[in-house]
Amino acid sequence: MSLADKTAHELRDLLLAKEIKAAEILEAVLRRIRAVESKIHAYLTLNEEQARDEAKRIDELLAKGESLPPLAGIPIAVKDNLSTAGIRTTCASKILENYIPPYDATVVELLKKNRLILCGKTNLDEFGMGSSTENSGWFVTRNPWDPEAVPGGSSGGAAAAVSAGGTILALGSDTGGSIRLPAAYCGVVGLKPTYGRVSRYGLIAYASSLDQIGPLTKDVTDCALLLQIIAGYDRRDSTSVNYPVPDYESEMKKSVRGLRIGLVREYLAEGLSEPVRAAVANAVAVFKELGAEVVEISLPYTEYALAAYYIIASAEASSNLARYDGVRYGHRAGKEVSDAVELMLKTRREGFGAEVKRRIMVGTYVLSAGYYDAYYLKAQQVRTLIREDFKRAFQKCDLILTPTAPNTAFKIGAKTDDPLEMYLTDIYAVTANLAGIPALSIPGGFDRGMPIGIQLLGPAFQEAILLRAAYGFEQATDFHRKRPNLKLTLGISH
Ligand code: GLN
Repeated sequence: MSLADKTAHELRDLLLAKEIKAAEILEAVLRRIRAVESKIHAYLTLNEEQARDEAKRIDELLAKGESLPPLAGIPIAVKDNLSTAGIRTTCASKILENYIPPYDATVVELLKKNRLILCGKTNLDEFGMGSSTENSGWFVTRNPWDPEAVPGGSSGGAAAAVSAGGTILALGSDTGGSIRLPAAYCGVVGLKPTYGRVSRYGLIAYASSLDQIGPLTKDVTDCALLLQIIAGYDRRDSTSVNYPVPDYESEMKKSVRGLRIGLVREYLAEGLSEPVRAAVANAVAVFKELGAEVVEISLPYTEYALAAYYIIASAEASSNLARYDGVRYGHRAGKEVSDAVELMLKTRREGFGAEVKRRIMVGTYVLSAGYYDAYYLKAQQVRTLIREDFKRAFQKCDLILTPTAPNTAFKIGAKTDDPLEMYLTDIYAVTANLAGIPALSIPGGFDRGMPIGIQLLGPAFQEAILLRAAYGFEQATDFHRKRPNLKLTLGISH
């Protein structure tokens, strides 16, 4: 087994036992990237040289007997909407084609402080707008389990890279499911933390009241270890919350016995594929076996969640994306323009892709004077009702179990002509962002060789409960241990 297929905690143990070197881990990952990239296209930018230098430094420090932070020397990839000083950051948009940030996002700073090794920047739907990574301004990322299928989106590059061993860990962002959906489709673990738990400073905004950064990893332990590094207060993000960060790894190991798990009455109805329903039923059985108590709950306003989400997200996007005017950042239309308005129009016409333009138009429309009350205000009221739905539910249970998505990864091109069909994929994901609560997707089964994700939702700042339930589930099952057979799916030997 290549080092590229191991988890971060396994590699950490091997490093501490001096059985391997950080440089060997990095070379195994870079070799894997070289083998699979022409097939899956997970990366927009690689950071080989700096990564090699950093691995060498870490090996020198370890040789001197210095004690380093727990994940020192572990390769990590970050989604290309996280600012990295001196490394191109595009949001997969032509409008930021050559943008090189002058500063690091707080999470990137924290990775560096903890001596993780940044191996590159991963592909996404332009500005995070999509569910399949087909909306990237550069290329489509493919699913390592089936290269004809999408990896999910928008953090599809990050999930595909983790799943194929093209990195050990990754960070993505989640506005309405963009960490969890690709995690589910690629058979890895993905966590959207509570709004305010992880600093958004340096995350290029899509919809600021919904965006959160979180880990994509091979198992729950890695997720806990990475969350430990990125969670915490940051005065540079005004929505960051100063709330104690527990020790996730030890919390995670507590027993599942006695936890009350809520099953949502409305969720197991129409639109859900049979194999996904079966995976949820299996998870319920596993949790019962582990001593958890299962209770039925109701989230009646979920019916309106997608409509509210796509109104609010588009409204905020139209405002956030107004800054790309050809003057201050990135792309600027050619010399032949005669005035400022034309410069702006032409720059935006050339720089933005079709989905981003659609969102800007929808967002501008719902915020316009004549329609504000009917759409934007209504959506905000629905958002409050959804938050109250959860508040009521969490009086009856400690966490909620749902599917992550109604289906497994669909084929590339299957939904590109029908945006509404694409938006429906997010049905189980968006409520967590609207309510600001944490949500975790873990591998929970397979359908004809494709991974199924199950989702756990908890009260605000209770990530530890989610990790604990997920860890218990993982101990009792082996879905998380299955990796795509790259020889079979991509025709490569590794
Ligand atoms: N698919 C959703 C959207 O397009 C969610 C994207 C995300 O979480 N960034 O808005």
